[in-house]
Amino acid sequence: MDGDGVRADAIPAVVGSPAPASAKSDVVKQLAALGGGDGSIFSQLLNNPFFTAGFGLAGLGAALRYGSRGAQQIGALVRRRLLVDLEITRHDKSYDWVLNWMTAQYQVGPTSSRVQTGIMERTIRRFMPGLHHLQIETSTLKSASGTEKTAFSLVPGHGKHILRYRNAFIAVSRERVDRNFDAMGKPFETVRLTTLYSHRHIFEDIVREAFEMAIRSTEGKTVVFTSQNMSWQASGQPKRRRPFDSVVLEKGLAKSVLSDVHEFLDARTWYLDRGIPYRRGYLLYGPPGTGKTSFCQALAGELDFNIAMLSLSQRGLTDDLLNHLLLNVPPRTLVLLEDADAAFSNRRQTESDGYSGANVTYSGLLNALDGVASAEERMIFMTTNHIDRLDDALIRPGRVDMTVHLDNATEWQMEKLWDRFYAEQDVTGEGKRRFLARATSAGLPGNVSTAALQGLFLYNKGNVEGAIDMVDQLRASAGTK
Ligand code: ADP
Repeated sequence: MDGDGVRADAIPAVVGSPAPASAKSDVVKQLAALGGGDGSIFSQLLNNPFFTAGFGLAGLGAALRYGSRGAQQIGALVRRRLLVDLEITRHDKSYDWVLNWMTAQYQVGPTSSRVQTGIMERTIRRFMPGLHHLQIETSTLKSASGTEKTAFSLVPGHGKHILRYRNAFIAVSRERVDRNFDAMGKPFETVRLTTLYSHRHIFEDIVREAFEMAIRSTEGKTVVFTSQNMSWQASGQPKRRRPFDSVVLEKGLAKSVLSDVHEFLDARTWYLDRGIPYRRGYLLYGPPGTGKTSFCQALAGELDFNIAMLSLSQRGLTDDLLNHLLLNVPPRTLVLLEDADAAFSNRRQTESDGYSGANVTYSGLLNALDGVASAEERMIFMTTNHIDRLDDALIRPGRVDMTVHLDNATEWQMEKLWDRFYAEQDVTGEGKRRFLARATSAGLPGNVSTAALQGLFLYNKGNVEGAIDMVDQLRASAGTK
């Protein structure tokens, strides 16, 4: 029989064409006995080549199955003896370090392309020698003014990769553990590094290198945390520290805040010994563009702290979330709560039209501030453009310990800002004198924000005469007569 049929004579001896009764297996013999000898259904079946072939095939299948299981067990044994694994779960801090370390291993790889392509393409080309499957991780930083900055980084994607580190080959497998996501919306996953047992010591070196790389990437930089998915998340890559004296406040003001902060940081045991929550609140108020946000960033840089930024007018920020966030501030991080007046306008809104949005309320803010208790120092900076909208209940020790008024630029600030921009072009200071004379006669001191002034200097970068000529435009934007 051709095709899909089975020919009796084609069946291999193992699986048996009709065989003498003496050669039948025990099982077959027993079946034959059960069937009651010749002429019975069983003896007919046993004499049937298709039936006995089926038994043979089943036997072969079982043998193969046992065989492959055995091979698997031997494989697992060899694996256990010869290989060593390092498994890191996503929720361990070292997870991101190791992924970034892997990425860095290939960033120095050769690139054949001399054509100037886009940054994305160039980066991918560079990666091609080792990592063929990359994943993009995008993060966005939303400022209080609503502008968004986006940063991306490429990390090894899911699947298998081979790395060569020193003399060892390492098989890397990045995998999702299941289909679920954690509370922060991140999938559960692991990265597993496998190498020869004799090379096991390299794992320690890899983790150390990855850690040192992570530390180096934040050295001299400020990590900015924003609230994402109910928790603080680093937003983009760490930023270069803003120099403290790049924010020009009224004479002596920046120094007095800085020395207050130092005094607080030095008084840890004083607070703890007296059972007083180790926290300090600052309120920075004044017109927009006077450096409230920038000063906090510069202060964080000066203290070698990171900064956690949150706008109280941010949509979806509830009392509970604010409370949760303030209780879970990352270490060595100062908190910047912008638009503190938003909580107070919510109160008015709720009272007047019965509307209660999903935003923070006045009592929610006070409760969250009062609840902050930690053995670690907690410094909370609040900013507002509308001090008149705040309630006295906020400005009390423990909530706000120091208020700082940042106003429009004084003549002194104008002079300092001028020096920061034109020290090289205006060595004698003659240009500065003319600029200040013109600005004063136009009534600018006290009427124009430092941001507007900085904008004018930026526009006339390196151009002293241009800056002097534009004073009148600044006057118009400040609305002075
Ligand atoms: P605010 O928070 O008071 O609204 P920002 O800190 O956001 O103001 O400042 C807006 C811009 O103006 C920033 O680019 C900042 O560098 C600049 N700026 C504002 N005030 C100052 C200042 N006093 N010294 C230096 N730059 C300033």
